[in-house]
Amino acid sequence: MTNQSLPAIKFDKVSRHFGEVRAVDEADLEIRDGEFFSMLGPSGSGKTTCLRMIAGFDRPTSGHIFLYGQDVSNLPPYERDVNTVFQDYALFPHMTVAENIAYGLMVKNIAKPERVKRVDEMLELVQLSGFGGRKPSQLSGGQRQRVALARALVNHPKVLLLDEPLGALDLKLRQQMQVELKAIQKRVGITFIFVTHDQEEALTMSDRIALFNKGKIEQIGAPSEIYEHPASIFVANFVGTSNLVSGEVAKRITGADITFSVRPEKIHLGSVAENPPSDSYTTDGIVRDVVYLGLYTRYQVELDGGGDLVVVEQNLKTTSMDVLKIKDQRVRLYWNKEHISKMGA
Ligand code: ADP
Ligand code: MG
Repeated sequence: MTNQSLPAIKFDKVSRHFGEVRAVDEADLEIRDGEFFSMLGPSGSGKTTCLRMIAGFDRPTSGHIFLYGQDVSNLPPYERDVNTVFQDYALFPHMTVAENIAYGLMVKNIAKPERVKRVDEMLELVQLSGFGGRKPSQLSGGQRQRVALARALVNHPKVLLLDEPLGALDLKLRQQMQVELKAIQKRVGITFIFVTHDQEEALTMSDRIALFNKGKIEQIGAPSEIYEHPASIFVANFVGTSNLVSGEVAKRITGADITFSVRPEKIHLGSVAENPPSDSYTTDGIVRDVVYLGLYTRYQVELDGGGDLVVVEQNLKTTSMDVLKIKDQRVRLYWNKEHISKMGA
């Protein structure tokens, strides 16, 4: 029995060094039972190395990994109740879809009637009922990825690891699979650990995200926390777009010696006759660039006394003609004080 009050996965100061390379560096982390948890970060930031250590394909140089309270740091992969889905599917080409999915059950000597039943359940779960007799070569990329998912779930692992599983799909299919994958996770209730370098994918799918940078975890939080309150300059830049303000400009706007970020959509762009509410920060400037993007318009504003800010406004009533007239105009920018995130260097 799985004790659900224990974290599904816990990292206690886990490091994996390859000579001089600190692929993972003193990572602390707790993933809750039943969570859709993403590891997000640029290429080379240590995400795959973390997954490989959870799966048992690799071992920490120091620190400990716990699976529902059990220290698994030195257990071989087959003694951990964990499965992995890779980007390149790794299906057996000579076997049918049903045989691919049944493989893990055969290895465990599950009797045939039970195998057939569970394969059918899995085919239904991934919306491939009726495809059991096909070979992988007769499937589309998205269908193959669903077979890989079914094969990894058929043994009901405690934790499923997914390493950039949608990376090979085109954008539209990818977005569709994001929704499906999330729905499947909800249905089976298994903890998913999802690795991606795509910030939008992580924001839309995850209960929580760990943001990796050079082997270290910069921040762990719900998508809204990470987006609204980035803890560092790296996070503010990697997730969404943000204005980073420091030095003299920050001092002029806030009166304090700080570095802060503010998201472009939080800034109101008004005329210099406007009186901002008392709980706002405000600064005047000249619109230097206007880019009409249909859904919204992006303005670049050069601030009086130096620095510039990017502002994004939805085109609720405005047209491209309206917005272009604002170019070279003097404007007043203001935003609620709560919408800045202060950060260390
Ligand atoms: P990510 O999955 O975030 O792209 P990885 O975990 O694959 O990152 O890699 C993190 C760092 O560790 C990279 O600098 C990579 O080159 C290095 N690395 C990973 N595996 C090995 C290995 N077997 N030998 C040497 N260096 C490695
Ligand atoms: Mg990787």
